[in-house]
Amino acid sequence: MELIHTVAWMKQVAADARRSDRLLGLVPTMGALHEGHLSLVREAQRQCSPVVVSIFVNPKQFGPSEDFQKYPRTLEADAATLDNLGVDYVFAPPPEEIYPPGFRTAVTVEGLSDRLEGRSRPGHFRGVTTVVLKLFEIVQPRFAFFGRKDAQQARIIRQMTGDLDLGTEIVVCPIVREPDGLALSSRNAYLSASDRRAATVLYRSLAGVRREIAAGERDVVHLLASVRKMIEAEPGVSLDYAEVVDADSLDPVIALRKTCCVLLAARVGSTRLIDNALIEPAGDSFNVTI
Ligand code: AMP
Repeated sequence: MELIHTVAWMKQVAADARRSDRLLGLVPTMGALHEGHLSLVREAQRQCSPVVVSIFVNPKQFGPSEDFQKYPRTLEADAATLDNLGVDYVFAPPPEEIYPPGFRTAVTVEGLSDRLEGRSRPGHFRGVTTVVLKLFEIVQPRFAFFGRKDAQQARIIRQMTGDLDLGTEIVVCPIVREPDGLALSSRNAYLSASDRRAATVLYRSLAGVRREIAAGERDVVHLLASVRKMIEAEPGVSLDYAEVVDADSLDPVIALRKTCCVLLAARVGSTRLIDNALIEPAGDSFNVTI
């Protein structure tokens, strides 16, 4: 495995791979790797060669009062893990490689970026799309792999790649969870023992939605009332939002009809966590994927 720190070298390596007609796959991450990230890497390796994993804690996607400084940085361990997996290249640039002095450009996907996570974290998705566009320009991957854990992010990135004809296919991979249902996240490391127990309420509330839909419930107001009640009853957990939105437009829906998502964000202790479930029509019923 080769560890690359500069944009110039990464471009060179990626250009060589493209010239030899190989299917280059990119897995963008902020490091502190866990099984969720590794599932994307394995999927990338199934579909592509070579595989590039980027590790970059992107300052532009953190708000002024967010956890940029304390975000876990474990590059050495991450590189060893990726080496063991047989990853070809790890791209881990310092911030000034991506944002040299005088950097002024941003890219925004209008409409999809200012609701849900975007409402709670102003500027977050502008930071995400700016860095992802830049990574795509440097690496020019044929495929890029993202987790459904960040469902709104995946939707926004797919919009950007289509709108800008980037030629990269976006692959969205399933959510990897702990045995008790908590979605893996680098931020889970912040949870105290009691926060960690409480945090499963996000998964439990989504499992409740799945049960109610299986029992015939179709009324979104009712489904959301159950979710809110369960989360608000959990000590130490404060709900930021719980919404059912159309998977394509991210507009709120009132009745289940097309493919939609339940999107949740909550603060558990001082840690902000997100989770979601996908609701897809299946004949007369719906499949709920958590
Ligand atoms: P991050 O390092 O948090 O920016 O995440 C990098 C990528 O890993 C994103 O595409 C995330 O959606 C994905 N990811 C994070 N956690 C999980 C998880 N539990 N399951 C699947 N993918 C995940």
